[in-house]
Amino acid sequence: MGSNGNRETVNYISEFLKNYGYEVKRGCFKKGVCNTWGIKEGEVDEFVLIEAHLDSVGAVRAGADDNASGASALLEMARLLSEQSYKRGIIIFATNGEEDGLLGSKYFVKKAEKSGLLSKISFFINMDMISWNKNGIVDIETNREFEGLARWMSSIANRYTNLRPEITMPAWGSDHVPFLKKGVPGVLTIEHWKTKSPCYHQPCDKFDTLNIPYLLEIIKLNMAASLHKLNE
Ligand SMILES: [Zn+2]
Repeated sequence: MGSNGNRETVNYISEFLKNYGYEVKRGCFKKGVCNTWGIKEGEVDEFVLIEAHLDSVGAVRAGADDNASGASALLEMARLLSEQSYKRGIIIFATNGEEDGLLGSKYFVKKAEKSGLLSKISFFINMDMISWNKNGIVDIETNREFEGLARWMSSIANRYTNLRPEITMPAWGSDHVPFLKKGVPGVLTIEHWKTKSPCYHQPCDKFDTLNIPYLLEIIKLNMAASLHKLNE
């Protein structure tokens, strides 16, 4: 957070979203530390929000799985979703400062609650660590309140992907928590935590350890769920 690389990443994502027709916004919660997000309006004044954190634990370590995997999935979904129009609007949200205490998502939720945007978010997906795996299990995490939604996500995984979904509750530790605390319905998709990357927060969290076919299945799951929610 706050490094040159971190700032360049915010600029890169902003530019990317602009190029795919999103109205791009930025919210800075510390000097030189910003979230960025893109909005595309729908026919009704409600939104599906997709989020991933763009920061990693620090320069001496790497961040391929945590969380270039989620950030790249975010951009790919932004690209794919830009091709059509939907009933609901889309918010593609790249959070910052996740590793420093969910700072970016907490800041966004606070502002969005004040502006009235938060209550218009009818569904959200968080993607954090989605590309290290050997058993095909994906965890779908939420709070008890949204267990039904997690079950629905599981059915989507079974219908559209070769993933083996497991529901985990309660929610902890990532950018879905501030949204769930305010009652926004949503889930975290994350690699099976019991068999997570052995390189979690370590210098060996590098690209060559990733399971790209697994990542693509999670993108497929999140695309399918988003498309259902965008049009229902
Ligand atoms: Zn993370």
